[in-house]
Amino acid sequence: MEHLDYYSERKYCGHCEKYVPYLMSVERSFCAECGAEVRLFSERDWAQFNEAMQARNAPWRAARATA
Ligand SMILES: [Zn+2]
Repeated sequence: MEHLDYYSERKYCGHCEKYVPYLMSVERSFCAECGAEVRLFSERDWAQFNEAMQARNAPWRAARATA
């Protein structure tokens, strides 16, 4: 069986600069390789995600931002 949930089991470590397996605590997650705090997306993926959400929720705002 292929590993379909790759990103649900990994988060982005800014220190390793890649998606890594992580250790989860109550509020935060930490890189299993270096121990730095990890997050769900890389900065680039997070920006793209936010842009997509803004375009969907407020197309007029996105249009003004590019003008
Ligand atoms: Zn790391």
